[in-house]
Amino acid sequence: MLRNPGVELFTKTLGIAEPWFVRKVEFSHENRRLDVYVDFRRGAKLACPICGAESGVYDTTERVWRHLDCFQYATYLHARQPRIWCHSCTRAGHGGVKTVALPWVRPEAHFTLYFEAYVLALAQEMPVLAVARLVGESDDRIWTIIHHYVDEARSKADFSDTTKLAVDETAATRGHNYVTVVADSEHKKVLFATPGRGAETITEFRKDFVAHNGNPDRIETVSCDMSPAYIHGVQQEFPNAKLTFDKFHVSKLLGDAVDEVRRAEQKKQPELKRTRYLWLMNPNRLKDEQKSWLSTLSRQNLKTAKAYQLRLNFAQLWEQPKEFAKAFLDKWYFWATHSRLEPVIRAAKTIRKHQAGILSWFDTHVNNAILESMNSLIQAAKHRAKGYRTTRNLIAVIYPLLGKLDFNLPT
Ligand SMILES: [Zn+2]
Repeated sequence: MLRNPGVELFTKTLGIAEPWFVRKVEFSHENRRLDVYVDFRRGAKLACPICGAESGVYDTTERVWRHLDCFQYATYLHARQPRIWCHSCTRAGHGGVKTVALPWVRPEAHFTLYFEAYVLALAQEMPVLAVARLVGESDDRIWTIIHHYVDEARSKADFSDTTKLAVDETAATRGHNYVTVVADSEHKKVLFATPGRGAETITEFRKDFVAHNGNPDRIETVSCDMSPAYIHGVQQEFPNAKLTFDKFHVSKLLGDAVDEVRRAEQKKQPELKRTRYLWLMNPNRLKDEQKSWLSTLSRQNLKTAKAYQLRLNFAQLWEQPKEFAKAFLDKWYFWATHSRLEPVIRAAKTIRKHQAGILSWFDTHVNNAILESMNSLIQAAKHRAKGYRTTRNLIAVIYPLLGKLDFNLPT
């Protein structure tokens, strides 16, 4: 066994300072293990964690923490955790015996801060189960670290400058589990994620928002889909906010209608089979052979082609000057409702019913693009949380990726 090969190295990398010092480093080749022993000077005065007054040591407990592996050797930090008898706290009636805070670890943790910082960094890059395997700890312990830092960072987050919100749902699992995500669409960060997609998610968000210095009266706009639950929730919790229905969701309504027409029609017109994407994609993103196929189909007087034209025509709404938008929508609605295409008529009626929130885009110019672009990251988060077991775990990995939180950890 080698003795003290790295006392200076660990003193520097752990940031050990007086009265603490690295007493010895033991290196076991057989066990592939490094043990670092840290101690405090005899007669040291240590600061009270409550009032900061310094006192002599009252008693100690031997403790050990997992540290970052060094040269692929499992590395452990050992120290006597001291308690002090604080006279000023005793006089103030706060009791006397206090556990001293240690600079390399947070209270009750099994790991050093460096180890935890490493785990958090890994968890942003790979599934939690893979992190657990890589560092040789259980995934429960990895989740405990993630939850701790997410909770702590969120407790300090400040939402006082938020005025524009975007709300959307994301599927948590293959089944019917959904998570509602609320973002600040101006500062491009997720503020809140919670299980469910009912009106109560907006109520939950409002509570959390207020707890983080958010002012609900300052919310100018909320962008969301046309689900009655979100509409109801927003109207109830943010009555001053202007609801704007997200362009993407409005367009999707017509895309779905076109596809419904196509699926009904392909029973008689088999050439429509496997053409779903031709009709759904933005025409200028089609390849040349797709374009010519589409124009061949479009000349055949198909119902699908007619529905498609209505979809493309609707998309021109967003190009209109504000003062013509309402007239454009009225004209389109007339055309759509006289199309004799049942799915299109239904979509048109939904659009009519929500037209105030659709036209409010011409004032607010907000949409859910921020959440749509985040959605791919949320899907990646799902992958990173592979085997996440609970929706709470999934939510916990959304925040480090998209919440722009400050984890306050050594790097
Ligand atoms: Zn004290």
